[in-house]
Amino acid sequence: MEEMRLNIPEELWIKMVLDLKTRGRGKRESGAFILGPLNHRDITHYICYDDLDPHCLDSGIIEFDHSGFTPLWRFCEVNKVKVYADVHTHPGSGTRQSGLDINNPMIRQAGHLALIMPDYAQRKSQFLNGVGIYEYLGDKKWKTLQVSSNIINIKKKNYGIFRRYLQQVINWYNRKK
Ligand SMILES: [Zn+2]
Repeated sequence: MEEMRLNIPEELWIKMVLDLKTRGRGKRESGAFILGPLNHRDITHYICYDDLDPHCLDSGIIEFDHSGFTPLWRFCEVNKVKVYADVHTHPGSGTRQSGLDINNPMIRQAGHLALIMPDYAQRKSQFLNGVGIYEYLGDKKWKTLQVSSNIINIKKKNYGIFRRYLQQVINWYNRKK
């Protein structure tokens, strides 16, 4: 599992959820591709589906036109990144894959992860709570992964350096007294 783990910086995750929430407006699905460098799995970007295909959210369920892949592949080439996962929202708390989700993987590559976020991403503090995680095995087969498998790791900012600096200032201040 370790080598499959996706590390997503917390601030990127929060921004992405907010984007999904805003674009879905609580009444339609929205989604995004999740991207990172070619050689390791520290996520650096996400791109909302409707930035690639402006009409893909119009019907309420995602209908992503194939033409949307052209700007996606261009972005990947320019930024030297690849798509590791995708995320889309569902209404209500159910995050099981629909027949459409099962039969139409956004990226047809084994190991690709698909996330399904509940309540059109409108929940107050939406981290991995209630999110469905599915690994594509190829041939329209999927494996359900548990949040507890840590396949997705939302990485909190590391304040270590700042904390050390602060401690030095406190020590210096204490010596002066
Ligand atoms: Zn779906």
